[in-house]
Amino acid sequence: MLVVTDLHKSYATPRGPLPILDRVSLTLNQGEAAAIMGPSGSGKSTLLYVLGALEPPTSGSVSIDGTDPYALGERDQAAFRGARIGFVFQDHLLLPQLSAIDNVLAPTVVARDGGPFSDRARLLLTRVGLGDRMDHRPAELSGGERQRVAVARALIRQPALVLCDEPTGNLDRTAAEGVADVLADLATDGRTTVVVVTHSPSLAARFGRRYEVVDRTLIDLAGAPPDRM
Ligand code: ADP
Ligand code: MG
Repeated sequence: MLVVTDLHKSYATPRGPLPILDRVSLTLNQGEAAAIMGPSGSGKSTLLYVLGALEPPTSGSVSIDGTDPYALGERDQAAFRGARIGFVFQDHLLLPQLSAIDNVLAPTVVARDGGPFSDRARLLLTRVGLGDRMDHRPAELSGGERQRVAVARALIRQPALVLCDEPTGNLDRTAAEGVADVLADLATDGRTTVVVVTHSPSLAARFGRRYEVVDRTLIDLAGAPPDRM
């Protein structure tokens, strides 16, 4: 579960604080998925970084399954991020020398939390439609397949929260559909909270909750006329 309360975020710049986000509040339960839209430069990535324990808010709070990551010390915060949050970025950021399955397993190598991760990695790759591509390196995969590996990697440690920043931004329509299917499927497993930043109305339409960053705040698009989408 994700609870964001009255979040403000400014970046420090040589010319003084640059306000990006203002009075952002959001509650998403376990199993809920939200799309966040908004123009370029409106602060969507900044919001994901704040939600993902990567960029502290200027004020306000973030709680992920009851833990405020910014109340933790540096090491605990990094450990929390690794264990509880999965990220998917526009660029897949796969390691080129590793096979798909080893890329999925990469977050568990440093985790030291043991467990039968190989079975889970196979399960995840099968679930994202890559059961017959596990030994392919990134160069031997299509763009859409690479991004589906990145989704499987984000899930390997069973995070509470999965954050996706324009995950289909580099893909053609068909590949984007495949990634959208995987993300929408993930949202129905009931255990994870999913937040997807996207410019794609058709991707956004796949998720139960839809928001837009407008004038530095987050507005709920529920009930908004379809032309806002
Ligand atoms: P979006 O993802 O919606 O395109 P971003 O969150 O990347 O928007 O950026 C929002 C605004 O914050 C932009 O105007 C950007 O220039 C500014 N910005 C982003 N990161 C920093 C930073 N580290 N320092 C100062 N300004 C930043
Ligand atoms: Mg962005």
